[in-house]
Amino acid sequence: MAEQPGTLLYYLKRSTEFLEKKEIPNPRVDAEWILSDLLNLPRIKLYSQFEMPLGQKEIDTYRERIVERSKRKPVAYITGKKGFHKFEYFVSEDVLIPRPETEELVDYLWKKKEELSLIEPKEIQIWDLCSGSGCIGLSLTQLLPTSVVTLSDLSEKAIEMSRRNAEKYNLNERANFYVSDLDLALPDGLQFDLIVSNPPYIPESEKPEIMPDVLDYEPHLALFVPNFQEFHKRLLSAAKTRLKPGGKLMMETHPLYISELEEMAKSLGFVALKKILDSSKKERFLFAEVPALS
Ligand code: GLN
Repeated sequence: MAEQPGTLLYYLKRSTEFLEKKEIPNPRVDAEWILSDLLNLPRIKLYSQFEMPLGQKEIDTYRERIVERSKRKPVAYITGKKGFHKFEYFVSEDVLIPRPETEELVDYLWKKKEELSLIEPKEIQIWDLCSGSGCIGLSLTQLLPTSVVTLSDLSEKAIEMSRRNAEKYNLNERANFYVSDLDLALPDGLQFDLIVSNPPYIPESEKPEIMPDVLDYEPHLALFVPNFQEFHKRLLSAAKTRLKPGGKLMMETHPLYISELEEMAKSLGFVALKKILDSSKKERFLFAEVPALS
C-alpha cells in the first residue's frame, strides 16, 4: 500500500530513506524514536497512527531533528533522554549517554542484594563516583529502598543534570551531590557500604577508533583518560579509604586493562576480587571488597 502524502507514515518513510542515504546504521529505528518523542507517543503507538496527518510545525521540527541525526548527533541528545534499566533519565551533551553495559552493572548488584548485604533494615550508603547523568546511583537508590546515595563528578554541568534526574524521581531527600575531583570535596569521615563507578577509561590512543557519533558529541572528559594507571590508582585509593569495613566496590572498566586494575586493587588491600563479564562476554566489571572487621 502506498502511503498518503502528508501522513505520519509518509514522513517516517522519507526520513528513513534520508538517514539511510546518509549511512546512519539503524535508519528506521532512529526515525521512529525521534518521531515518537516529538509526538509524545510511545514508539509502538506510531503503528496505529500511520494515517494521521502531521501539522506543519511537527513536519518542520521533525525535519530539523532528522537532519541533526544525519550529522550523527546521537538520538538521545536529540530527544534529551535515555531509558536506563527500569528508568529514563534526562541527558544532554554535558553527560555521557548511559550505556547498556552499565545497566548490567546495576542489575548485577540488584540481583545479588541479599548476598552482598545491601538490604534493609540497615541504611545503605552508596557513592556513585564519576556520576554523569546519575544513572547508576539514582537507579540503585530506587532499587534498594533503604539506601542513600552520594553522587560526585568533576563536571558541574553533569551534577546539574543529575540533580534534575533526582528531582524527576523525587529523590531529593535521598541524594547528595558534590562537584568533586574523586572524594576531595566530600565531607571528612563520610564512608560507604557500596561504591559504584563508571569512570572515564578509554586511553586517548584509542580516539581514532571511536565512531563519530561518540567522538563528536559525547563529553571527552567522561570518556577518555590521559593516564589510565595514574588516574585509576588515585580512584582506587579514594575508594579504599571511603569504604566501611566489608564495603563493596563495583566498577566498569576497559577489558584490556582489567587485570592491571585487579592487581592495583589487590596491592591496595582490596579482597574478594572478581572480574565480571558483560553480555558480550567481555571482562567489563571489577568487583572488590574491603576486608570486614574480624
Ligand atoms: N556514571 C555515568 C554513566 O555510567 C557517567 C559515566 C562517565 O561520565 N564516565 O553513564
